[in-house]
Amino acid sequence: MKYIIVTGGVISGLGKGITASSIGRLLKSRGLNITAIKIDPYLNFDAGTLNPFEHGEVFVLDDGGEVDLDLGHYERFLDVSLTRDHNITTGKIYGAVIEKERVGHFLGKTVQIIPHITNEIKDRIRSVAHQSGADVCIIELGGTIGDIESMPYVEGMRQLHTEVGDENCIFVHTTLIPIVSAVGEQKTKPTQHSVKELRALGVQPDIIVARAEKTLDPATRKKISLFCDVPLEAVISAQNVKTIYEIPVIFDEQGLTTYLLNKMKMSPPDGGLSEWKDFIGKIKNPTRCVTICLIGKYMDLMDSYISHFEALKHAAAELETAVKFECIESEELEQEKMHKRMKNVNGILIPGGFGHRGIEGKIAAAKYARENDIPFLGVCLGFQVATIEFSRNTLNLEGANSSEFDPNTPHPVVDLLPEQRGVERKGATMRLGAQAVMVQSGTTAHRLYGVTEISERHRHRYEINPEYIDRIEAAGMKYTGRSPDGRRMEILEIPEKAFFVASQFHPEFKSRPRKPSRLHFGLVEAAVSHAEKKNR
Ligand code: GLN
Repeated sequence: MKYIIVTGGVISGLGKGITASSIGRLLKSRGLNITAIKIDPYLNFDAGTLNPFEHGEVFVLDDGGEVDLDLGHYERFLDVSLTRDHNITTGKIYGAVIEKERVGHFLGKTVQIIPHITNEIKDRIRSVAHQSGADVCIIELGGTIGDIESMPYVEGMRQLHTEVGDENCIFVHTTLIPIVSAVGEQKTKPTQHSVKELRALGVQPDIIVARAEKTLDPATRKKISLFCDVPLEAVISAQNVKTIYEIPVIFDEQGLTTYLLNKMKMSPPDGGLSEWKDFIGKIKNPTRCVTICLIGKYMDLMDSYISHFEALKHAAAELETAVKFECIESEELEQEKMHKRMKNVNGILIPGGFGHRGIEGKIAAAKYARENDIPFLGVCLGFQVATIEFSRNTLNLEGANSSEFDPNTPHPVVDLLPEQRGVERKGATMRLGAQAVMVQSGTTAHRLYGVTEISERHRHRYEINPEYIDRIEAAGMKYTGRSPDGRRMEILEIPEKAFFVASQFHPEFKSRPRKPSRLHFGLVEAAVSHAEKKNR
């Protein structure tokens, strides 16, 4: 097993996840089997209880793991499906060590960070890597070198390197190269300092990936090479690009793949990146453009809805279309101003969410989409919102709501899942992960999926109340996807509309380059027709 460890210096948000994913993609293009692990040094057991404002979207895996959004990047770049064990947190590590101590595993010993915590870290990494059957395991260490909470991990990685040897363990350090505007010179000092910090912990990086606005100047590269003690060809420029999917290509052009393979003493056949480049070509050369409006409530942080943006890009690429995103904070959306805000919009997407804030704005947007026949996709909460809106305004069920937002509603058209009653604990207790959905023949969902049985990922506590289904369907909204026992509503459509579809599940989590989410594809396709009609 080869390990590639990606650390970050200077500041957070440098795109370590994209760097790790891109390296994985390059090695995959050489026919190697790649897996990836994300380490989050926080004490939470998993990402499930984190507000999206903290770290961005909570990504959901097939096995129901609620994990860091970087696992979404790994799945999209590597085209693999990961498990919850691929996200290691301090909560999991310490929890396991304390449990072992209670069982008597360390009887007589003082339990300490070194070696007990570091051993747990290494054991987990080894076991996940081996179970995945991969040739190379990429490990991304969250946070920034120097953070107190990531110290045990750096130490664990240092030990791993000593145990497996130079050619089996490569350190990639990502840093920032700022430009001080008046001079316009690329500054390497922060990189030097962060490498110094890393070395003080016993780790010498093999490769430096430098984030910069523009390509690194030859002089900058030389300086980094000299001061950080890495060969010139191991200083890699990660300049701004049009789409994140270009990163593997710019790395490859700088010789990173060859350098890595030599370092690891591997010589797989050259597979080439042509398929990947075809995909980028589709993104970069659109023949038309549509505007999709996303109505959420964590809009200050774009990472909160990252899988939706990526899914829309995957879909748009297949349709040779560019998507312009319009993001609206649902709390600010008022009925009266709706027309003005939606004037140039070709499609509306209401994503998932929790809690009462902003809900009326989303309901107003669903109404606007339905009444004005604007292509509409609702996901999870968006699916529930579409049902609430239809019940209020078509069935005239006054005050219809979800019992999540109004426990005393006279019409709880969305209600707690029966198995959720009495559930008090918040961690990992939702209906989670991949579940089968039966799709009714001859519907829009069936046209998009092409099959009648699908599997998609879930994350919810509430569902459509079965008591209202007959009435809703009689009024024209159809539930065209259901759980195999028929009890749970999974997809809804209004057949008389151009495109009005919503799902209880999250199709965005399984969207990949060249294999877009079918429902996001449907939305963009309908948005293209909407735009064409408008321009006629
Ligand atoms: N809050 C809703 C529920 O728990 C929707 C969840 C979501 O959108 N992920 O059912």
